[in-house]
Amino acid sequence: MARSKKPKVEIDAGGKYHAALSNAEGGDRYEYDPKLTAQGCRRYGVKNMSGLFTCYACRPNKPHSWGSGIICTELYLSAINTYRVVFNAQMCKLCNRYARPKVDIDRYVAKVVDTFALWTGQRKAHAGNGPHKSTGPHDSSRCRGCLKGICTMSDANKNKSKSKKR
Ligand SMILES: [Zn+2]
Ligand SMILES: [Zn+2]
Repeated sequence: MARSKKPKVEIDAGGKYHAALSNAEGGDRYEYDPKLTAQGCRRYGVKNMSGLFTCYACRPNKPHSWGSGIICTELYLSAINTYRVVFNAQMCKLCNRYARPKVDIDRYVAKVVDTFALWTGQRKAHAGNGPHKSTGPHDSSRCRGCLKGICTMSDANKNKSKSKKR
Protein backbone atom coordinates (compact mmCIF):
# COMPACT_ATOMS: atom_id res chain seq x y z
CA MET A 1 0.00 0.00 0.00
CA ALA A 2 1.18 3.48 -0.84
CA ARG A 3 2.82 5.20 2.06
CA SER A 4 1.32 8.54 1.16
CA LYS A 5 -2.23 7.22 1.47
CA LYS A 6 -4.22 9.84 3.30
CA PRO A 7 -6.88 8.79 5.79
CA LYS A 8 -10.37 9.33 4.48
CA VAL A 9 -12.03 12.35 6.02
CA GLU A 10 -15.41 11.90 4.36
CA ILE A 11 -16.81 8.39 4.45
CA ASP A 12 -19.66 7.26 2.21
CA ALA A 13 -22.41 5.31 3.94
CA GLY A 14 -22.76 2.80 1.14
CA GLY A 15 -22.08 -0.88 1.79
CA LYS A 16 -23.45 -2.18 5.06
CA TYR A 17 -25.17 1.07 5.97
CA HIS A 18 -27.10 1.07 2.72
CA ALA A 19 -27.86 -2.64 3.09
CA ALA A 20 -29.36 -2.01 6.52
CA LEU A 21 -31.39 0.92 5.22
CA SER A 22 -32.78 -0.96 2.25
CA ASN A 23 -33.87 -3.80 4.54
CA ALA A 24 -35.68 -1.44 6.88
CA GLU A 25 -39.35 -0.60 6.66
CA GLY A 26 -39.70 2.51 4.54
CA GLY A 27 -36.06 2.39 3.51
CA ASP A 28 -36.36 0.11 0.49
CA ARG A 29 -37.53 2.91 -1.79
CA TYR A 30 -34.17 4.67 -1.68
CA GLU A 31 -31.25 3.79 -3.90
CA TYR A 32 -27.67 4.68 -3.03
CA ASP A 33 -25.77 6.97 -5.40
CA PRO A 34 -22.24 7.87 -4.28
CA LYS A 35 -22.00 10.56 -6.95
CA LEU A 36 -24.83 12.77 -5.71
CA THR A 37 -24.02 16.36 -4.79
CA ALA A 38 -26.15 19.08 -3.23
CA GLN A 39 -26.64 20.51 -6.70
CA GLY A 40 -29.62 18.91 -8.33
CA CYS A 41 -30.79 17.31 -5.11
CA ARG A 42 -34.18 18.12 -3.76
CA ARG A 43 -32.90 18.21 -0.22
CA TYR A 44 -29.58 18.40 1.58
CA GLY A 45 -29.11 18.48 5.32
CA VAL A 46 -26.77 17.76 8.19
CA LYS A 47 -27.65 15.40 11.04
CA ASN A 48 -25.79 14.07 14.03
CA MET A 49 -25.18 10.34 14.31
CA SER A 50 -23.73 8.48 17.24
CA GLY A 51 -21.00 5.90 17.20
CA LEU A 52 -17.43 5.07 17.94
CA PHE A 53 -14.16 6.22 16.42
CA THR A 54 -11.07 4.07 16.62
CA CYS A 55 -7.59 5.19 15.62
CA TYR A 56 -5.35 2.29 14.70
CA ALA A 57 -2.52 4.52 13.52
CA CYS A 58 -0.82 5.72 16.68
CA ARG A 59 -0.89 2.72 19.04
CA PRO A 60 -1.11 -0.53 17.05
CA ASN A 61 -1.31 -2.65 20.19
CA LYS A 62 -3.88 -0.54 21.94
CA PRO A 63 -6.03 1.38 19.46
CA HIS A 64 -7.42 4.62 20.81
CA SER A 65 -11.23 4.83 20.79
CA TRP A 66 -13.71 7.51 21.60
CA GLY A 67 -17.45 7.73 21.36
CA SER A 68 -19.35 10.62 19.85
CA GLY A 69 -23.01 11.55 19.72
CA ILE A 70 -22.18 14.27 17.24
CA ILE A 71 -20.82 12.56 14.18
CA CYS A 72 -21.44 15.20 11.54
CA THR A 73 -23.36 13.44 8.77
CA GLU A 74 -24.44 14.89 5.44
CA LEU A 75 -27.64 13.67 3.78
CA TYR A 76 -28.53 14.14 0.11
CA LEU A 77 -31.81 13.13 -1.49
CA SER A 78 -32.60 13.52 -5.19
CA ALA A 79 -35.99 13.96 -6.82
CA ILE A 80 -35.95 10.31 -7.95
CA ASN A 81 -35.18 8.99 -4.45
CA THR A 82 -31.54 8.26 -4.99
CA TYR A 83 -29.56 9.35 -1.96
CA ARG A 84 -26.14 9.71 -0.48
CA VAL A 85 -24.95 9.89 3.12
CA VAL A 86 -21.48 11.04 4.14
CA PHE A 87 -19.92 10.76 7.60
CA ASN A 88 -17.33 13.36 8.52
CA ALA A 89 -14.32 11.95 10.34
CA GLN A 90 -12.87 13.14 13.64
CA MET A 91 -9.23 13.52 14.54
CA CYS A 92 -7.50 11.33 17.10
CA LYS A 93 -6.30 13.51 19.97
CA LEU A 94 -3.19 11.40 20.43
CA CYS A 95 -1.83 11.58 16.90
CA ASN A 96 -3.98 14.14 15.03
CA ARG A 97 -4.90 11.66 12.31
CA TYR A 98 -8.45 11.29 11.11
CA ALA A 99 -10.22 8.10 12.17
CA ARG A 100 -13.27 6.41 10.68
CA PRO A 101 -16.47 6.17 12.66
CA LYS A 102 -18.37 3.01 13.36
CA VAL A 103 -21.86 4.44 13.42
CA ASP A 104 -24.69 2.91 15.47
CA ILE A 105 -26.49 1.28 12.57
CA ASP A 106 -30.00 0.95 14.03
CA ARG A 107 -30.15 4.57 15.05
CA TYR A 108 -28.62 5.53 11.71
CA VAL A 109 -31.35 3.74 9.77
CA ALA A 110 -34.12 5.18 11.95
CA LYS A 111 -32.81 8.71 11.57
CA VAL A 112 -32.28 8.54 7.81
CA VAL A 113 -35.68 6.96 7.12
CA ASP A 114 -37.34 9.54 9.37
CA THR A 115 -35.56 12.45 7.70
CA PHE A 116 -36.32 11.25 4.17
CA ALA A 117 -39.98 10.67 5.11
CA LEU A 118 -40.16 14.32 6.11
CA TRP A 119 -38.35 15.49 3.00
CA THR A 120 -40.62 13.51 0.69
CA GLY A 121 -43.78 14.70 2.43
CA GLN A 122 -44.72 11.33 3.94
CA ARG A 123 -44.86 12.84 7.38
CA LYS A 124 -45.15 16.25 8.94
CA ALA A 125 -42.46 17.86 11.04
CA HIS A 126 -42.56 16.87 14.69
CA ALA A 127 -44.30 19.59 16.59
CA GLY A 128 -42.73 21.46 19.44
CA ASN A 129 -39.28 19.96 19.20
CA GLY A 130 -37.50 23.18 18.33
CA PRO A 131 -33.90 23.14 17.26
CA HIS A 132 -32.04 20.07 18.40
CA LYS A 133 -29.78 20.74 21.36
CA SER A 134 -26.82 18.47 21.79
CA THR A 135 -25.26 17.67 25.07
CA GLY A 136 -21.79 16.53 25.89
CA PRO A 137 -18.45 17.83 24.78
CA HIS A 138 -17.62 18.22 21.13
CA ASP A 139 -14.10 19.10 20.09
CA SER A 140 -14.71 21.27 17.06
CA SER A 141 -11.02 21.53 16.25
CA ARG A 142 -10.98 17.75 15.61
CA CYS A 143 -14.26 17.45 13.72
CA ARG A 144 -14.10 17.52 9.94
CA GLY A 145 -17.67 18.84 9.81
CA CYS A 146 -16.80 21.74 12.11
CA LEU A 147 -13.72 22.58 10.06
CA LYS A 148 -15.95 22.70 6.98
CA GLY A 149 -18.42 24.87 8.91
CA ILE A 150 -21.38 22.51 8.36
CA CYS A 151 -21.50 20.65 11.68
CA THR A 152 -24.43 21.44 13.97
CA MET A 153 -21.81 22.20 16.61
CA SER A 154 -19.54 24.35 14.46
CA ASP A 155 -18.92 27.95 15.50
CA ALA A 156 -20.56 29.20 12.32
CA ASN A 157 -23.81 27.46 13.22
CA LYS A 158 -23.61 28.41 16.87
CA ASN A 159 -23.32 32.08 15.95
CA LYS A 160 -26.19 31.73 13.54
CA SER A 161 -28.58 30.53 16.20
CA LYS A 162 -27.42 33.04 18.78
CA SER A 163 -29.82 35.94 18.98
CA LYS A 164 -28.46 39.37 19.64
CA LYS A 165 -29.69 40.83 22.88
CA ARG A 166 -29.51 44.52 22.48
ZN1 LIG B 1 -4.23 8.13 16.86
ZN1 LIG C 1 -18.42 19.11 14.67
